[in-house]
Amino acid sequence: MNLISTRGDTVPTPIHEAIARGLAPDGGLYVPTALPRLELEAFAGASTLPEVATALLQPFFAGSPLAPELAAMCRDALAFHVPLVAVDHQRDTRLLELFHGPTAAFKDVGARFLAACFARLPAPGNERRTILVATSGDTGGAVADAFFQRDGFDVVILYPNGLVAPRQAHLLSCYGENVRTFRVAGTFDDCQRLAKQAFRDTELTAALRLTSANSISAGRLLPQMSYYAHSALTFWREHGERLNYVIPTGNLGNALACLWAREIGLPIGDVVLATNSNRVLPEHFAGGDYTPHPSVATIANAMDVGDPSNFERLAHLWPAADERRQRVSAYGVHDDALRARIRTWSETAGVTICPHTAAAAEVRERELGDEARPWCVVATAHPAKFESVVEPIIGRAVPVPPPLENLLARQATDEPLAPEFEALRQQLRADS
Ligand SMILES: *Cc1c(COP(=O)(O)O)cnc(C)c1O
Repeated sequence: MNLISTRGDTVPTPIHEAIARGLAPDGGLYVPTALPRLELEAFAGASTLPEVATALLQPFFAGSPLAPELAAMCRDALAFHVPLVAVDHQRDTRLLELFHGPTAAFKDVGARFLAACFARLPAPGNERRTILVATSGDTGGAVADAFFQRDGFDVVILYPNGLVAPRQAHLLSCYGENVRTFRVAGTFDDCQRLAKQAFRDTELTAALRLTSANSISAGRLLPQMSYYAHSALTFWREHGERLNYVIPTGNLGNALACLWAREIGLPIGDVVLATNSNRVLPEHFAGGDYTPHPSVATIANAMDVGDPSNFERLAHLWPAADERRQRVSAYGVHDDALRARIRTWSETAGVTICPHTAAAAEVRERELGDEARPWCVVATAHPAKFESVVEPIIGRAVPVPPPLENLLARQATDEPLAPEFEALRQQLRADS
């Protein structure tokens, strides 16, 4: 399949080239020329997550040099469980736990699939490539883990000093070897600006073979459809009913994957977006124009986004605002309500959730509480990753899952960096 840019002035690009590039040359985001339609029979015999992913992604990769590798890529990338667990039988709520990967957040899925693609798309001349990533928390760790010790790859991470959770900071800094981590004296926006400047510097880009792994990459978005396809199919096969989803949302990458999966024909019902105090999406879906705001800091920091990058893909899918409002809705949740929801679910359901998941849980209870339809609250990170927020609320320690425990036991080393492009350029060039 070919992909095109959301901004429309590029020629159709084969999927493996679009994945290698990240951003389209006109600055737009890559989207499929048209989403394929699949009947449920296309998934006959597919029951595990990698099997469902392979059936789902096959039309996208048809004709690509990656096509013969697709099943192996899905097995490599999706090598952990994504269980759908019941929370509360009366209110028909389930939790889709996306946090059983190595860095305990859903970003592992996209980062690992992207690494599986890159590893099978050798650079011309087999030169080393440098993955440069600006992160507000979870992306950097997932990308570092996915590329750690991979032949032919270096990773450079930029994160805002003091603005990520302590364990997030540790995960960003605990790899070493082919992973270099800079704590930038600035905000996430500074980190993103530095990365963008680096990609615009043609000399630097060529010398280091700089490659992006940020969330706009089609290679991260497409595999995220897999866990929606898998959970919806499993539910449909067991109950003969569509599952409805509430999704914690920042840059809209996770939720867009769900909407694409529904367009492709998976038995997905309503899709509702849950944001924190960053209200651009709730305002738009309540009838306003799409008006970006500066981002506001919240306890759900991975969703502190004032201008969600994937809105451009949503607007490409449904250009008319009215149509978007028919297909999706969005609600915002302030920090106080996030805290209260973490406490109540812990006390009444015995379930500990992270602050991001709490946004979706709160929207399920507050906005959709009377509905008897089955709802799935998407759990985007393990609560142990945000223990400094969660533990004071629930009044006890959150047990650390084994993969996270191993990473926390490693030594962390990062380097300070001034929020100036020249400082970054010198650090990167000093190596080569
Ligand atoms: C990245 C992230 C989100 C937001 O996902 P988007 O794809 O940016 O909407 C939510 N929760 C957690 C834990 C995350 O890491």
